Amino acid sequence: MSEWSLSALVLDQVSVFVPSLLATMGSFASMLVLASLLARRRGEKRQGPPPPELKVDFFWWMINPLGRVISRIVILGIVMGTMFVVGKEFHPSIFDGFGPVMEQPRWLMLTELFILTDLTSYWSHRLCHTVPALWKFHAIHHSPKMVRWTSTARLHPVNELITYCSNILPAMLLGFPAYALGIMIPVIATYAAYSHSKWHHSLGPLRFIFTGPLYHRWHHTHSHEGGNKNFSGVFAFWDFMFGTYYMPKGRVPEVFGLDNEDMPEDFVTQLVYPFRKSPGELAANASTDPRHSSVNSVSAAE
Ligand SMILES: [Zn+2]
Repeated sequence: MSEWSLSALVLDQVSVFVPSLLATMGSFASMLVLASLLARRRGEKRQGPPPPELKVDFFWWMINPLGRVISRIVILGIVMGTMFVVGKEFHPSIFDGFGPVMEQPRWLMLTELFILTDLTSYWSHRLCHTVPALWKFHAIHHSPKMVRWTSTARLHPVNELITYCSNILPAMLLGFPAYALGIMIPVIATYAAYSHSKWHHSLGPLRFIFTGPLYHRWHHTHSHEGGNKNFSGVFAFWDFMFGTYYMPKGRVPEVFGLDNEDMPEDFVTQLVYPFRKSPGELAANASTDPRHSSVNSVSAAE
């Protein structure tokens, strides 16, 4: 077993920051070009200056890589701590995968991992809506009154950390390698940008299998509409299975954002917003927020 050092391991996690930032800037620029070309093709004309929400979204895109680095360091700490508690010796090779999972063909392992992470994402997302302390962080993602592809990255680093941990830790426990999750992140991020786009695609008969822009835009409406439904990231069948599917027939969502309108509109204030609430105030706010009502209601599926 090769030698390793903790400082080198932490540095490894930090070293992904610059490539991740460059990749984020590249994907933001290429999506901006693509969205402009598509808008021009559809004959859409922009009136006036870009809305201020776009500037806020840009800052969120640029802070996301930092959230990923923090998440990687926290996961490293959790894995090392768990190994210590169960009395096993830690070695970084644990991140390379192990057991029967690694004996399968690679395509099968990646397919299983993709489905598993979509399932864990469903539940972490649903918990972000139902646990008041988590909702304060996730509320930032639901604050735009105009949902578009740039809204995708409006994710607080704590929200990123919750999603990251809930995806990676169960997968690692089963023996999936961390690098495979690294392959999936750009795929999932691109699909998320598509899901947040302004198109009202329902995907036709495929809407029962895959989410899409219309599907996810309903999730960004108020809680009396689809705001407490459609938690799935890629596969719509999770919402079917767990009773949260919502696609009203013959309508498209029109009003987006939070039920109560108290989210600040600049980036820094949004960043500190969840920390400015005392636990008592947080609970009081949460209990009066209809978004935290039960999500057991039957969805108005087509
Ligand atoms: Zn949500």
